[in-house]
Amino acid sequence: MVSLRLKAGSATDVGLVRSNNQDQYLMAEPVFAVADGMGGAAAGEVASSIAVSTLGDEVSRRAGPLTQDLLVEAARSANRAIWQKSIAHSEMRGMGTTLVAAALIDDDRLAVVNVGDSRLYSMRGDVFQQVTVDHNLVAELVAEGRISKEEGQVHPRRNIMTRALGVEPEVEVDVFVEAARPGDRFLLCSDGLPRELSDDRISGILRRLSEPSAAAKELVHEAKRHGGNDNITVVVLDVHEEESPPHSFEARGVEVSGAVPPADSAALPTLGAAHPRDSLTPAAGPTATGPDSADENTKLLSVLDINARTQANASREHRPSQRKASVVTLRVAAFIAAFIVIVAAGAAGVWYYARSAYYVGIRGNALVVYQGRPGGVLWIEPTLNHVSSVTTGQVLQASLPSLHSGVEEPTVAAADSFIANLAALYQKSQTAALPPPTTPTATTAPSTSTTSNAQSPTSTSPTTS
Ligand code: CA
Repeated sequence: MVSLRLKAGSATDVGLVRSNNQDQYLMAEPVFAVADGMGGAAAGEVASSIAVSTLGDEVSRRAGPLTQDLLVEAARSANRAIWQKSIAHSEMRGMGTTLVAAALIDDDRLAVVNVGDSRLYSMRGDVFQQVTVDHNLVAELVAEGRISKEEGQVHPRRNIMTRALGVEPEVEVDVFVEAARPGDRFLLCSDGLPRELSDDRISGILRRLSEPSAAAKELVHEAKRHGGNDNITVVVLDVHEEESPPHSFEARGVEVSGAVPPADSAALPTLGAAHPRDSLTPAAGPTATGPDSADENTKLLSVLDINARTQANASREHRPSQRKASVVTLRVAAFIAAFIVIVAAGAAGVWYYARSAYYVGIRGNALVVYQGRPGGVLWIEPTLNHVSSVTTGQVLQASLPSLHSGVEEPTVAAADSFIANLAALYQKSQTAALPPPTTPTATTAPSTSTTSNAQSPTSTSPTTS
């Protein structure tokens, strides 16, 4: 018996910007899927892992033919498993994931379930188009005709997702059913692919490379080459005829990207009829291509009906970048604070040095005491402390050059004492009727910058040190 089968190829890559890959893919014939997790720390990886593992488990455990209803129920089970994990682990609160999954049903149709903004495209002959509709605020505004596709591409809220698995106890799952014929090709991908490559470039690669694995690898490679701003995950499915039963009840060749934690079966609710069919989105044919992928680095969750919890999740999604911004701000603040302290300490040191001394100088014909250093220090000029009663005519002429330069003393009292000594020395020379010395001598010119020298009656010619 000739029946349809899917030949699959896959590839995933962390990209060039992100530090971890939160995407997961599932290749567990008859079901294939891509999940794009979101959430702080490693929560996004956990969410996408639970999504694909739960989906694979539910499909492999089925007791009859695979149907679109079973796929929808499997997606809902995945939603509940993620939700329960997140409420049981506070560090994972708010995690979520997209999920797009496809499987052949009824031998000639492809059933597709979708939540979020991962996509399924179909390619038949020359026609390449997006089948799924992104659960994205801007995509919905475009679909409703409220904004144009061009406006959507620059819309400030283009990174707001409106639906995801795991952020609510229950989730609405879109389902599409596509006719499947030999030669048809389907592409599942996370948004990291279309945000980097146009539809034309994607379809060009799909036409050029006939081997699904080669096409998948090339798509990921090209998306990286064009920016790689997000994780990139691709599954390429080729419909072909094969002489075998189309589906066995066991999943074959299960391949899951990344490290998928074992499904916590005990925590999973059993499948049943708890969810009426009428809540399903009706099956639809191929839809118009949505807007190009939003130019976001972080996927946000939000719901148009302003659900408070989902909004809280959205802010949680913002936290990593906010945390980074806070760290940067703190570092800058710390640097500025340290700089100010260093500058202030330096200024204080200069100020202390400049103002902690006194010197004797000449103003007019009087000997005066200044506070500060002779000539000043940087911007700090000396200031007049007081004018003494001694004039330049009452000191030895040999002392005048050093007085013009300024003779430093540690205190006001020491400066006054130095002036008194100069006057006394002059008096002594007069009363002794000795001819006053006209030049200083090296051997009798000790440093006068200390109080003891200034107080020494033997000092004849103080000089600045
Ligand atoms: Ca993504």
